[in-house]
Amino acid sequence: MSTYLYLVCKDHEPPLEAMGESGQHTSDLPQIRSDIADRAQIVDLYSRSLYGMSDSFRSATAYFLSVHPACEIGIVDEYGREHSVHPDADLIEAIAKALHGWGSAVPWDETQEAWKEERRDMAERAIAAIRSRWTIEAKP
Ligand SMILES: [Zn+2]
Repeated sequence: MSTYLYLVCKDHEPPLEAMGESGQHTSDLPQIRSDIADRAQIVDLYSRSLYGMSDSFRSATAYFLSVHPACEIGIVDEYGREHSVHPDADLIEAIAKALHGWGSAVPWDETQEAWKEERRDMAERAIAAIRSRWTIEAKP
């Protein structure tokens, strides 16, 4: 879906929104989440001017992270909707929908947010449990 995406600093009241866009489509969310998860490295590279400026969205992300190095960061779109910063957000959402489908006849989109959050928490704990037990070896 086409929508501008912005980082916000949630340690400011009201939250401070970035001037520059970090993405233009919801399909940019995985890259934004990955950069937030790797913020220490991104900020370090940006501070040493080693960060590639060819990608203006990632540069906007790097700049905002560098001026808010320790703040809680969020992602909002141009319609004011908040998006998860969790690097596994898409996987969590897919598992949460599947869990919901087994236990409820109410369509996901019509389900109360509290129920969705409960399913997302279950999905996140399932992913963490799987990760703690399995090591996936990289193929040579
Ligand atoms: Zn801040």
